[in-house]
Formats: sequence, structure tokens, C-alpha cells
Amino acid sequence: MRLYPIETGNFKLDGGAMFGVVPKSLWNRTNPADQNNMIDLAARCLLIEDGDRLVLIDTGLGNKQSERFFSYYFLWGDHSIDKSLQRHGFHRDDITDVFMTHLHFDHCGGSIQWNKDRTGYEPAFKNARFWTNKDHWQWALNPNKREKASFLKENLLPMQESGQLHYIENTGDPFLSWSSLGFGILFVDGHTEKQMLPHIQYKGKTIVFSADLIPTVGHIPLPYVMGYDMRPLVTLDEKEQFLNRAADEKYILFFEHDAHNELCTLKHTEKGVRLDEVLSFNEVFDI
Ligand SMILES: [Zn+2]
Repeated sequence: MRLYPIETGNFKLDGGAMFGVVPKSLWNRTNPADQNNMIDLAARCLLIEDGDRLVLIDTGLGNKQSERFFSYYFLWGDHSIDKSLQRHGFHRDDITDVFMTHLHFDHCGGSIQWNKDRTGYEPAFKNARFWTNKDHWQWALNPNKREKASFLKENLLPMQESGQLHYIENTGDPFLSWSSLGFGILFVDGHTEKQMLPHIQYKGKTIVFSADLIPTVGHIPLPYVMGYDMRPLVTLDEKEQFLNRAADEKYILFFEHDAHNELCTLKHTEKGVRLDEVLSFNEVFDI
């Protein structure tokens, strides 16, 4: 098995929204805001090469939304999913499976593209199965008023219409130790209904794709919860359990949204679980 980080392009979001009730004087130390109060974010996906299978975890924002839509997200840098795949010798048509942690547009927008004559949409990975879970799919198709702006119909319906949509088995247990994709999955409900966090066994370590449970290094301390979360009290419980386990078991966290830190380990301190070391892909993934 080999792992490759796939940078799909950076963006920005309002720092206050990213840190909920935490004052700027605190979060600005780890995630400095620009003159518009926006903070740097990545849309960093993860590619797993395992035998004949090439599994891509999340797909970033994609490029099919309008200029006006993207103007709210201040895209920056020159990464793209195609360039990142090519760097490791892959093409999007090689992808056999696209696993989506959840269906907010910054995680699955790259899964769907315009068709050739721009009259409609089609899957951007024509040979892939697209993986979500049934509860989250239903939640996304019938969104509540607060979360509605994050679930775009054009990201969802073409997956289903193409026949490429599949559901991960969900036993009701918060942790599925082995899925059909070859990794464990933690289900969490604070950010959205049944977000899925892959736990990948690699070279004797557990790599966790921490998605929107812990989007950046700045979100490690317990109360640093995003304003976007649907159920912040649930996030607090889920984070506490996860952080303790991650520090005990020496998990390596993979950050999807941290533009400046790729991976880290955690440690127990008197104040709770905190950052231990920031790591680079070269050290851990040997690429
Ligand atoms: Zn996100």
C-alpha cells in the first residue's frame, strides 16, 4: 500500500466562522487572519494505492461553480487535482473508488464536473465508485435550512443518476473497524450527520483523515469547534474521545484543511490533549 497527498487547491474562510465561540485574540495566533478576516485553508485529499485499487478520499471544491460563487472563497495557490495526480503518475480515469467523508461542497465538489457541451453535469471520475453512507445521503438530499448552502444538488444527483453511487455499510456502531475499502471508519455526527473519518493502517501506524472533526492544528484544543457544526456539543464529546484515543494510540492525523501543516501527532498534557509534532509527508509516507 502507498499513500499520496493530493492537493486540489487552497481557499479561505472567515476565521470567526471557523472557530465558533473562540475569540479572535486566541485563534489568530495559530491561524492568522488577513485584512478581510479570512484564514488560509487547504483542500488536501488523500490517495490510497492498494493492489489494483486506487481510492481517493474527498475531491475538494471542484471547478464547476460560478465566478461569483468562488469569489466568496478566495481561491489561491496553483494546485489542481489533475496536476497532483499526475505528479505521482496517475490520471483521474485510473481512480477506482472515491470515498467522501461528507457531501459539503468543499469535500465533494471535485467529484462532479460539467459535461462536454456544458448542458449538464457528469461524474469527474468515470471509472470510479462513489462512496457515502445512506444516513448522510438522505441528510444531504433533504438538508436543514442552516446546512442547505453546503449541499449543492449538482454535486449529488449526477452521482446517483450515473449509477456510480454506493453506500458504506453502517452497522450503527460509531467505529467500523474494517470497511470494504480496506480501512476503518469512525462515524461522527457533530459537524453533520454521519461524517466518516478513515483510519488507515500504514507501516505499523494508524493514519486518520481528520476531515472536519479537526480541520487544522489550531482546532486541536477541545473548545475550538467550528461555527459551522450542526451539533457543537456532540462535536465536543466526539473530539474528546477521539483526541484521547489518538494520543494513547499515537495516531498520525492527516489534515485536509490545514494549509500549512500536513500531518501531526498528539500528546497528553495537563491542559488536555495537545499537538506533539508536526510531520511531513516525506517522513511518514516515504514519497
Ligand atoms: Zn470542510
